[in-house]
Amino acid sequence: MEEVFRFADQLGPLKLVHIHRSSVGLKAIVAIDNVACGPAIGGVRMAPDVSTEEAFRLARAMTFKNAAAGLPHGGCKSVIFADPKMPLSDKERLIRGFAAAIRDLTDYIPGPDMGTDELAMGWIKDEAGRAVGLPREIGGIPLDEIGATGLGLAVAIDVAREHIGLSLAGARVVIQGFGSVGKHAARFLAEKEAVLVAASDTGGTIADEDGLDLAALIALKAEGRPLHDHGRGRKLGMEAVIDIPCDIWIPAARPDVIHVDNVARLQTRIFAEGANIPCSVEAEQALAARGVLVLPDFIANAGGVICAAIEYRGGTEAAALALIAEKIRANTPAVLEEVRRTGALPRTAAVSLATERVHRAMRTRRWDTGAG
Ligand code: NAD
Repeated sequence: MEEVFRFADQLGPLKLVHIHRSSVGLKAIVAIDNVACGPAIGGVRMAPDVSTEEAFRLARAMTFKNAAAGLPHGGCKSVIFADPKMPLSDKERLIRGFAAAIRDLTDYIPGPDMGTDELAMGWIKDEAGRAVGLPREIGGIPLDEIGATGLGLAVAIDVAREHIGLSLAGARVVIQGFGSVGKHAARFLAEKEAVLVAASDTGGTIADEDGLDLAALIALKAEGRPLHDHGRGRKLGMEAVIDIPCDIWIPAARPDVIHVDNVARLQTRIFAEGANIPCSVEAEQALAARGVLVLPDFIANAGGVICAAIEYRGGTEAAALALIAEKIRANTPAVLEEVRRTGALPRTAAVSLATERVHRAMRTRRWDTGAG
């Protein structure tokens, strides 16, 4: 069998497309993993060094995320091999070339990812007729402005805290990475009287057991200033955010921040993954063994893609926020119930829930029944 089929399993990938257009210097890979639930939504990543394997694995992660969120969309991802910091006119040419090349891959709906933004999605929509994460002027819903992912996180946390009998009023929250996801999660949790006791950015950690002034911190970040410029609270190093005792700890910065060497330092009851893959599987196991409730990334941070799905249908911001709350309020308990019933890790339970949904969708299809 050809090496190209080395990733093939019961779910996919349906198509792995290598694109080469020498006239624009374009080299790209599109991995469409599975479309049984509907046309696949997934980001366009621009990076100099991504492998076909990585494109496939990211596409599979989107299959699980979209299915777990209960969206009528499959999973995919594409990668353009280039430096995203190139001059804007070169970037436009390259992305328009990419968009022309994927025009006929109609079961692929591109969205923004590392190295691409809403302007790039506008170029793709112009060339290929479809994209999500668009500028507002052409029907986009600004998900980072409205806090789509932060809202979803707060809803997932609200479900989790019911599960362990924790009251949100007075619950202590720590956030690593006070950016689009982190600050909105803090805002939505504060509406339910949770108290932000520490937050961090690349400049360091700020902590106050009596509660930080959330509005002041959000205003600081809006001015592009670091959290350490805040007048109150203890100023600590960037890593110190891991040591602050709390009830809810939210990684909302980078991948791989919690691992076997630092997981023992966390003192929390809920670990709610805002960032993608912020924690190794071994560290998630260690947390579960200590009775910490882990909310896996693709369950807890699905607000962004739910928002994109609404945008694709021409829906409004209000409809997006309502659907995020509805979907995550339904899917999180399904995962936690499975954890309670089987004793599985939350991530394992979530993958099994998503896989079961994809298999059910596959049974409705003439091809791709998953029975091979
Ligand atoms: P962002 O750039 O708006 O914010 C990231 C914040 O993290 C910044 O304040 C930055 O200073 C801080 N930071 C970076 N490295 C840090 C570190 N080592 N320690 C502490 N702080 C650090 O990004 P975002 O959109 O909020 O995304 C955050 C994470 O969530 C990313 O991993 C992203 O892939 C993931 N995510 C985002 C969305 C979304 O809707 N934006 C959806 C799903 C997942």
